[in-house]
Amino acid sequence: MVSSRACTIWFTGLSGAGKTAITNALVPLLKARGCKVEVLDGDIVRANLSKGLGFSKEDCDIKIRRLGFVCQLLTRHGVFAIAAAISPDKTGRDENRTLIKDFVEVYVKASLETCIQRDVKGLYKNVLAGESRKFTGLSDPYEPPDNPEVICDTERETPSAGAQKIVRKLEQLDYLVPLAGAAENGDGEYIDDDEELVRQRLEALGYL
Ligand code: ADP
Repeated sequence: MVSSRACTIWFTGLSGAGKTAITNALVPLLKARGCKVEVLDGDIVRANLSKGLGFSKEDCDIKIRRLGFVCQLLTRHGVFAIAAAISPDKTGRDENRTLIKDFVEVYVKASLETCIQRDVKGLYKNVLAGESRKFTGLSDPYEPPDNPEVICDTERETPSAGAQKIVRKLEQLDYLVPLAGAAENGDGEYIDDDEELVRQRLEALGYL
């Protein structure tokens, strides 16, 4: 199965909202369909593409622009680029939408309270203890998207359900060819035969 055409999947959400977790669930689904995929996770990008940049508004804007530039190049060459960074500014995301065009925005939604409770990387603890700098959601604003293509509510849906929802949207937008014989349960989630088909493909590719 090949994709119709590649796009950039742009995750946005607070730290700890679940961008990485959903990305990890999404990548094997895309690869199982023969897509070329590249993940640009905020934490990874910080160590190379954006090395040396700080957390001022100016530097953060540059990071998002660079990320968008790389996603555009990848997408233009048939790669599904997944950007998983907080990207708190609506303007920066919208600029990348205009630049890339084939752009699917995924709002990974979780309340600040939930993210603080999860505190996967211990970052909130440090900030709240006054040990570190500014932080999105605490000292700096986070602007949720108005019209994202997908909303993954990670207080209610598992990462796997979130990934499936994205796949379904990619099919609706003609970025992916729907799997033959797929059946939906009405919520855009696959059932029975299709899940088994995906499982078999993942197994064949060595992901399971
Ligand atoms: P982010 O990349 O947005 O900073 P992470 O994916 O690193 O967030 O962390 C989110 C944390 O929340 C992980 O520990 C993940 O296992 C947990 N989590 C719990 N429920 C969900 C869910 N439904 N979707 C995504 N992550 C979830």
